[in-house]
Amino acid sequence: MQFKDLEAQYRRLKPEIDAAIQSVIESSHFIMGKPVFELEEQLAEYVGRKYCISCASGTDALQLSLMALNVGTGDAVFVPDFTYIASAGAASLLGASVIPVDIDETTFNISPEALDTQIKRVIKDGNLTPKVILPVNLFGLPADYMEIGRIACKYGLKILEDSAQGFGGSIGCKKACSFGDISVTSFFPAKPLGCYGDGGAVFVDNDELKSRLISLRAQGRSADDKYDNIEIGINSRLDTIQAAVLLPKFKAFKEYELDAVNYIADVYTDRLSKVGNITVPYVPDGYRSCQSQYTVRFKDENTRNRVRKALAEKEIPTNIYYPRGIHQQKAYEKMNRSSLLYPNTVKATQTVLSLPIHPYLSEADADKVSEIIAESV
Ligand SMILES: *Cc1c(COP(=O)(O)O)cnc(C)c1O
Repeated sequence: MQFKDLEAQYRRLKPEIDAAIQSVIESSHFIMGKPVFELEEQLAEYVGRKYCISCASGTDALQLSLMALNVGTGDAVFVPDFTYIASAGAASLLGASVIPVDIDETTFNISPEALDTQIKRVIKDGNLTPKVILPVNLFGLPADYMEIGRIACKYGLKILEDSAQGFGGSIGCKKACSFGDISVTSFFPAKPLGCYGDGGAVFVDNDELKSRLISLRAQGRSADDKYDNIEIGINSRLDTIQAAVLLPKFKAFKEYELDAVNYIADVYTDRLSKVGNITVPYVPDGYRSCQSQYTVRFKDENTRNRVRKALAEKEIPTNIYYPRGIHQQKAYEKMNRSSLLYPNTVKATQTVLSLPIHPYLSEADADKVSEIIAESV
């Protein structure tokens, strides 16, 4: 059994993907070829944004977005403590201060109450300007954008949605990558919509932000002259080959993959809900997750580790996303923040376990995983 099965996906889509790659090689338009613009248009339409600006990775998408929002030294960026390091890193590289915020115990996403408290604290301290809230749609579930929107409005902050794991999720009829002022996603191979290398995209509705992002991803060039540079940018474009690979993959994603992966999540939830001492993922009413990870929780660290070992003995791969919070990372040791501020994150790091899940996982495999868990918990 595989944790993510990219080979199964390739077997299914081989003719389309091979032809797409071949045609880019024949055209020799490796940078900003036609498939890049085609993909950007399709993605923007799908998520319900005016513009999609593709780039070289999800990490770059975050950096470009923060640059477009003029984030720098003296600014505070509020990030959930329980996330992949990339959510925080770009702000730090730009000289801004990352303020980790504890998560909601049931959704794993940023806690609006903790967010409000942290913003108030930063204002009271008076050393930093609160600038951006950077919620993450962790494991595929959109964060609570209603509450986050209210808080952003109250304090005059921008929202940058990190949907690297969230592409395809939704709240009501609003899709992930359409929340807040700017949204980003990643096309890293194991993400919900992945390419065959690194890739990412930024989504906006605002025309000025769009022009700025297009300039920033190409060294800060002016709109009509490549060698007239109006500011310092970076080199971060999505390769034409990656865009060409993504086009048939995106079609499969829309047509059946998103439904298939949700079906497997429902199978897990049905089987595991009957087992004691385990908490299945919570999807609030009206929300849809794209199920990039199916993450369960156990009552304590020993139980989690015991179940993980039992699964490993049967050659079932699992992962611990994430073993430490942002505030516990060595890279952030100067932050010197007490774990007492992050009780839900600390608890999650000790009790979570992510199970194999992808659109090509069979119901029989999900049954097998559930049975081993039931026997070992
Ligand atoms: C993967 C990921 C990123 C970074 O995306 P890359 O394409 O790997 O650079 C950012 N944020 C989150 C939450 C991620 O999971």
